[in-house]
Amino acid sequence: MEFSIIPDKEALSKCAWCQSHIDDHMEVFDFGAKLKSNVDLSEYESHCIQIGLVSEEKPIYMMVTAQGSEAKSEGKDGMFLVCSKKCGKKLKKALAEEISLAKMFNPAWPD
Ligand SMILES: [Zn+2]
Repeated sequence: MEFSIIPDKEALSKCAWCQSHIDDHMEVFDFGAKLKSNVDLSEYESHCIQIGLVSEEKPIYMMVTAQGSEAKSEGKDGMFLVCSKKCGKKLKKALAEEISLAKMFNPAWPD
């Protein structure tokens, strides 16, 4: 699988779902996702990548967690940063329902 790496600064300043601006003064939410065992993103570890969607004309941003990190040890292979619970819900729905994403992620994610 091929993904574009996006600069951390850009990924960390935008909601993974609605792309609205996020800054330190806002309450942000994050959640982790588990990849299927046949999906290998090790070459993107500790980078942020852009994943294209089929149903929406926009990509989502995901941080690929690094080996040895706390998130990784909790079973989170990827992390999403969202601006609201609503965006988190929509993103989780897309992860489960988008054909391209459902192939990548395990439907049950750790909270
Ligand atoms: Zn949002």
